[in-house]
Amino acid sequence: MALRLYNTMSSQVEEFHPLREDEVRMYACGPTVYDYGHIGNFRTFIAVDLLQRFLRQSGYKVRYVMNITDLDDKIIRNAARDRVSVQQYTAKYQKAFVEDSAMIGIEQPHFVRATENIPQMAEFVARLVDKDVAYRTDDGSYYFRIASFPRYGNLSKKDFSEMRAGTRVDVDEYDKDGARDFALWKAPKPGEDSWDTSIGPGRPGWHLECSVMSMQELGESFDLHAGGEDLIFPHHENEIAQSESLTGKTFARTWFHVRFLLVEGEKMSKSLGNFYTLRDLVLKGHKPSSLRYLLTSVPYRTQLNFTFDGLRQAAVSVERLRNFRQRLATGNFPSGSNPEIQALASETVTRMREALDDDLNTAQAQGAIFEMVRKVNSALDAGQIKQDDARPLLTALEKFDEIFAVLKDDDAFEMKKVLDWARSEGREKDISPELRDAVHSAQLSDTDIENKIAEMEAARRGRNFKVSDALRAELTAAGILIENTKDGVRWRRK
Ligand code: AMP
Ligand code: ZN
Repeated sequence: MALRLYNTMSSQVEEFHPLREDEVRMYACGPTVYDYGHIGNFRTFIAVDLLQRFLRQSGYKVRYVMNITDLDDKIIRNAARDRVSVQQYTAKYQKAFVEDSAMIGIEQPHFVRATENIPQMAEFVARLVDKDVAYRTDDGSYYFRIASFPRYGNLSKKDFSEMRAGTRVDVDEYDKDGARDFALWKAPKPGEDSWDTSIGPGRPGWHLECSVMSMQELGESFDLHAGGEDLIFPHHENEIAQSESLTGKTFARTWFHVRFLLVEGEKMSKSLGNFYTLRDLVLKGHKPSSLRYLLTSVPYRTQLNFTFDGLRQAAVSVERLRNFRQRLATGNFPSGSNPEIQALASETVTRMREALDDDLNTAQAQGAIFEMVRKVNSALDAGQIKQDDARPLLTALEKFDEIFAVLKDDDAFEMKKVLDWARSEGREKDISPELRDAVHSAQLSDTDIENKIAEMEAARRGRNFKVSDALRAELTAAGILIENTKDGVRWRRK
């Protein structure tokens, strides 16, 4: 079965086949780096990361490009306010975005930046003017003539037949009644950064940036273009109009949009006090893997409501999976194999694939792995797992984690970086006791812990209880929970 994806352009779930047989070329609109990334942004970026991971697991080569919007109205305004250049203003947030993405298990796309492609953007505008689909105004700005593009509105399913020809809008973000000629290039304003180019001084509009950079990296037609659902109009509608007017070809074939994340039932906003960056959650002591799990627990087109309860439940789910993996990896099982368990492992792999092939039904894929965990845990308790069963079960977990990326136990190490950052920013008061605890256990690597447990066990067998007790106390103080089971000592981080 091939992957089926919903395409906003056709409003249908379609079989996804890339233009080139074995390579997928995809582009995601990246962050506007004027602040730290919030959990809504990460819902979208994790959904796209999950898609590209699944495409690779399905055997495709993936060329995944993401722009960093380091130039738009908000950035220009804030940089001018702080009297620094655009580059100086965005540097800190760009760095934070790369770090946050890694922390939450996002594999790094190929990044492109608006400020590094300005001459090409000016060139693009000149070509649109040559085609008579763009025009210059007296102040030196350039606009796209939407009346020249009859398909305008096809993506967002808006009817612009009544639009007021010749009226203009020059802000990057505008709402649905903005069916007016939009700014491709904005003339300089006093106090704001601008660039000297072949079409005069100024700066590109946001929509233009993505058209130019995506086609430069991926060609005039490519397979998939992604973003949050708010980008359908006007951003993506404008990208299509500009790009297709120039090339006469289909710009992106599949349009992939992620439903907006709600927080405690409401639209996330600073004024409602329900706005959280990834770092805010880590400062409260939550693990990045919990958030990643939560954000993938609902398929990307279904409404997801973030709650702290949900986040705590996600942490429990991740913990169960990690414990399960450890139980399998370290258990001593009798030789042989159990055919039912072997079949269960391979069925689980198939069920996960089928779920993800079905427009990335992540909830069902997670359901399949948990069903396996439940059944195998009972079998383990009943002593029905044999030596040769562990490998296929672990392989199923590995396949799951190639996509979901929550099993690697590096939360505490990542959380320590946030703690250090908070200190360096003078935000000591925002560091919760939970974060301090979690970081404490990160002082020891997995190997350190295993070595200490081996020493502890050796001391105990030698009846040297003073040493074994001291080692146990040391591990407990570092936030390591130790449990004696019939299969030996098991441990986990608090
Ligand atoms: P921005 O940094 O505002 O340009 O947004 C970066 C990405 O995050 C875009 O693809 C947005 O559509 C997406 N995004 C913003 N807010 C949310 C949200 N609440 N839920 C899901 N995606 C969002
Ligand atoms: Zn974009």
